[in-house]
Amino acid sequence: MSAYRRILLKLSGEALGGESGFGLDAKRAGEIAAETAALVRSGVQVGLVLGGGNYFRGVRDAGDKLERTTVDAMGMLATVINALAFRDLLRAEGVPAETLSAIAMEPLAVRFDKERAVALLEAGTATLFAAGTGNPYFSTDTAASLRAIEIGADIVMKATKVDGVYDSDPKKNPAAKRYAKITYAEVLEKGLGVMDATAVALCRENRMPVLVFDLNDPGAMARAVAGESVGTLMS
Ligand code: UDP
Repeated sequence: MSAYRRILLKLSGEALGGESGFGLDAKRAGEIAAETAALVRSGVQVGLVLGGGNYFRGVRDAGDKLERTTVDAMGMLATVINALAFRDLLRAEGVPAETLSAIAMEPLAVRFDKERAVALLEAGTATLFAAGTGNPYFSTDTAASLRAIEIGADIVMKATKVDGVYDSDPKKNPAAKRYAKITYAEVLEKGLGVMDATAVALCRENRMPVLVFDLNDPGAMARAVAGESVGTLMS
């Protein structure tokens, strides 16, 4: 049984890159697609936003020679590459999947609009929202928050490499404590690395809860969607 009817799953680009974090690791990305497809098959409506870090590394280092808006355009294009790849991986798992793009990009992807997105989700199609918000100076976490609010998702589920939000870096401090629950205000005040401040503010204003969970923990995604206590819930 699922605790949620409609979720927005946010995956970083690095996650699809497997251990190297670069490019597409077909095996690891396939495993993530299999877990996601299982949610879709169980009847949960799944919207997805993918980052672009796996095709984007190095670009920031050239930042003093490239315009910020160019760097951001490259980042948004990287998210389209990931969304197209992940769409096919989901289809290979036997679930219907479509990519909608924030930037006009026919014939690669249909342009995002809310009505279309909701119709796809209601038909049981995993729907990938590509090209971020379509604007520079934003992150894919902000895009995930924005799309979640627009489509009326119950929650943003942000997949990360750690099993939640800690009061200090658990890799450096063995006594670091994980929060089971945290408020938007605490995240902003303490500068905790859940999402960037723009994304947190958007979620706070629209009362959109965000669950941070560990993508490398097999089954954590399914347990989270089942409403079990997993990771950290920001609300
Ligand atoms: N980006 C952007 N506008 C958006 C979303 C993303 O300009 O609405 C750009 C931005 O440069 C960002 C990059 O795309 O750094 C890739 O996204 P992100 O770093 O969030 O990817 P992740 O780290 O999650 O793989």
